[in-house]
Amino acid sequence: MTGLACVLGFLLVMGIGGADMPVVISMLNSYSGWAAAAAGFVVSNDVLIVTGALVGSSGAILSYIMCEAMNRSFVSVILGGFGEGSGAAAPTGEAKPMGEATATNVEEVAELLNDAKSVVIVPGYGMAVAQAQHSVSDITKILRKRGKEVRFGIHPVAGRMPGHMNVLLAEANVPYDIVLEMDEINDDLSETDVVLVIGANDTVNPSALDDPTSPIAGMPVMEVWKSQNVVVMKRSLGIGYAGVDNPLFYMDNNQMLFGDAKANVSALLNELAKTEKELVAA
Ligand code: NDP
Repeated sequence: MTGLACVLGFLLVMGIGGADMPVVISMLNSYSGWAAAAAGFVVSNDVLIVTGALVGSSGAILSYIMCEAMNRSFVSVILGGFGEGSGAAAPTGEAKPMGEATATNVEEVAELLNDAKSVVIVPGYGMAVAQAQHSVSDITKILRKRGKEVRFGIHPVAGRMPGHMNVLLAEANVPYDIVLEMDEINDDLSETDVVLVIGANDTVNPSALDDPTSPIAGMPVMEVWKSQNVVVMKRSLGIGYAGVDNPLFYMDNNQMLFGDAKANVSALLNELAKTEKELVAA
């Protein structure tokens, strides 16, 4: 039985691509719950049955939500992509350059924010890695104090688990009412002056909508390119989790602020605070 279980486990996960892997891990979690519930029946232990069923069902619900957000078929993910030709590929290194990206600096971004009336911040995995959420929260406070409309747009699979960004922003005391889900804010992006993308990549990739051959084709994304100005903060033009290049970086209304998100957000905070002091002095 142990040998058979090992073979079955191997066969079930060997064909699964990079972007689908977290779904499978959550599914395996769910399986462990169902196994515990089954063991509870065998040894007549009610606690084991109830806790096993809780783990099993919550894992299955989480996997389903992740699949919906990535526009993947639940069944094909848990069957290792069987019957679906376009499963997301694992990252395969650097993507090919698709044009010329415009680089910017902290002073220019601070100026852009000073002139803006509405700002949307779109965080991603890079913000979590850099632990930049506290400085992001301070920037939000300064901009709101100056009467600007600042909101956050959260993609359902931004980061590496559902709710990853919400937890970080809550930890940094960002008010809940300005943290909006992708569906709530996508339509407003065309009327937004500046979108700050902080360490996000796949979740703001237009090829998900434009390119049917893309491994992330069909995944709903934050349509940040519709705003007047986009500033993407990341260290390079490199790929994200799904391993695909991002045409957003080469668009005319997009500028890249290269570097570690924490360092750049802190520098931006200092620059904004400097203009704040100048305003007070004037
Ligand atoms: P991505 O993984 O697409 O991109 C993150 C980007 O952050 C990278 O391109 C990287 O670029 C940048 N980055 C990394 N470290 C830093 C740093 N210190 N400072 C600045 N930038 C940094 O992130 P998204 O959040 O946009 O997308 C999440 C991905 O994870 C999606 O593909 C989603 O499908 C997948 N996923 C998410 C799940 C979830 O439940 N949330 C579950 C399953 C999959 P660079 O190296 O150039 O800095």
